[in-house]
Amino acid sequence: MSTDPISAPDVAPADCLFCRIVAGEIPASVVERGERVLAFRDIDPKAPTHVLVVPLEHHRDVTAIAAADPAALAELVALGSRIAAAEAGGPYRLVFNTGAEVGQSVFHVHGHVLAGRSFTWPPG
Ligand code: 5GP
Ligand code: ZN
Repeated sequence: MSTDPISAPDVAPADCLFCRIVAGEIPASVVERGERVLAFRDIDPKAPTHVLVVPLEHHRDVTAIAAADPAALAELVALGSRIAAAEAGGPYRLVFNTGAEVGQSVFHVHGHVLAGRSFTWPPG
């Protein structure tokens, strides 16, 4: 029996939306492709800059990638930070929804890089 308290389906790469975007099978507005990560614009932006940064390899959430490939997670953060600097002068919010209960809807880890306006705290 699984003891994982986070509800997240394990999605096969062939059925994974973001694996298919990485593979070029589904179009996306790509901002930059790195050695291990891809940045593309969110289809339903919540800020002037709303970019999703994903690893090329499938990991279901930030906990999984932190354990399996910390270098890819570091590259993801560095690329998000560079994009926020280039598009919005520096400040940004980086969000990893982790688990369906808190809003994760695509189970291929993605950092939401949000920038270009003021934000309130706490988030809803
Ligand atoms: P989550 O809810 O898992 O944290 O974030 C998933 C994000 O993916 C949402 O912000 C949603 O707008 C975005 N999204 C869903 N489908 C697509 C798509 O086909 N293309 C792009 N570029 N973004 C998508
Ligand atoms: Zn995937």
